[in-house]
Amino acid sequence: MDFGYKTKNAWEILDRNEVNSFGEEYKKFISKSKTERETVDFFKEESESKGFVDVFSNKTDNGRFYAINGSKNIILFREGKDSLEKGINFVFAHIDSPRIDIKQNPLYEGFDVAMFKTHYYGGIKKYQWVTVPLALHGVIYLKNGEKVELSLGEKPDDPVFVISDLLPHLARKQMEQNAREFISGEALDPIVGSIPDSDDKEKERFKKFVLNLLHDTYGLVEEDFLSSELTLVPAGPARDSGFDKSIIASYGHDDRVCAYTGGHALFDMEDSQKASAVVLFDKEEIGSDGLTGAQSDFLEYVIDKIIDRKMIKTSAREILHHSSAISADVNTAVDPLYKDAFEEQNSAIFGRGIVVTKYTGSGGKYSASDASAELVYQVRKLFNEENVPWQMGELGKVDIGGGGTVAKFMAKRGIETIDAGPPLLSMHAPFELLSKVDLYSSYLAYKSFLLKFNFK
Ligand code: MN
Ligand code: MN
Repeated sequence: MDFGYKTKNAWEILDRNEVNSFGEEYKKFISKSKTERETVDFFKEESESKGFVDVFSNKTDNGRFYAINGSKNIILFREGKDSLEKGINFVFAHIDSPRIDIKQNPLYEGFDVAMFKTHYYGGIKKYQWVTVPLALHGVIYLKNGEKVELSLGEKPDDPVFVISDLLPHLARKQMEQNAREFISGEALDPIVGSIPDSDDKEKERFKKFVLNLLHDTYGLVEEDFLSSELTLVPAGPARDSGFDKSIIASYGHDDRVCAYTGGHALFDMEDSQKASAVVLFDKEEIGSDGLTGAQSDFLEYVIDKIIDRKMIKTSAREILHHSSAISADVNTAVDPLYKDAFEEQNSAIFGRGIVVTKYTGSGGKYSASDASAELVYQVRKLFNEENVPWQMGELGKVDIGGGGTVAKFMAKRGIETIDAGPPLLSMHAPFELLSKVDLYSSYLAYKSFLLKFNFK
């Protein structure tokens, strides 16, 4: 007998046709949903087409709701056969990703080029974002209140935006600096134009040419940038990677892969015993603060609305304390090129399925949300019974770094919460790598959890 614990590569377990066709649909989503707003729009449209109604409307419902908070946070909810007081099975994910945001007064020029000032968002290695094609996404409110939506750099004939870097010939000093500093935060400005305005008495002719062009195209004046949210994200669609096309390379797998798999698990599953919900947050990458982050009380507000609609005598707090959740966020796979960063026995392997993580945090488990052994047991039992390819993993060697998820903000509400998501390579890079079997395993895991989990 062999009593050892082993995991198996999920290509040896899953149906490859199912894996590949799920991957094709995911690539369409991840290629067009590059910001929180675009992702919320995607899920609003999808959920409406599946009979979900806006919880804040007076439309009659069939127990399926969506609720949108500030265009960047959305809750998808399905009633179960049980009363809501028995709790909800949740999947929580986030739909913001690291990127380069445009400042509120961005436009300037120098040495015959016009540029945009930026302030990066989230944890990036700054050197990865220079000399790669970037697309400009976002919204601008004009003086008259008109909303202009931008997605420039995605079509083959669109212009892209590029942040320049110093040529190696002159970079001797730059190359001696450490990687945190050699591209400074203020050196992430893209070039946005290089034709001078025809009026040669003007001082800033390159800036003026861009402003005139933007006015002609969008009716925009410089002051309108103040009321904008513009961001630079890697341009272009997701791509298959590897001779065997087993991998999807894309911007923003973290964490829209969990949003997609969680959302579609909720849409596709049959009617469940318990109520179920998928909640997609903003601001996770910068601490989950603000109106649309996981620390806001929008969740309680929406549950109160559902209680009102269903005329049941209970409270949001009561319901949350009977609820269970997967904090669905990506993890890391062991990178064969950097295996020194990992303690191999407790790290996830690329392609071996969704990674369950008992605790996150860093340096002595600081700031961890720690799932109980009881909860881990129940999840383990469920995934094994449902034949979900899964593995246990923690993020890197002790004391080498670490990270958190929204789990702790959910656990403090009384929700039994455990982390689980697919392992990536190159997390937070402009092009992240995701195995198609880990993608599909995550979908299977979230579906079984939403449909069948019963902890309390
Ligand atoms: Mn994440
Ligand atoms: Mn992240």
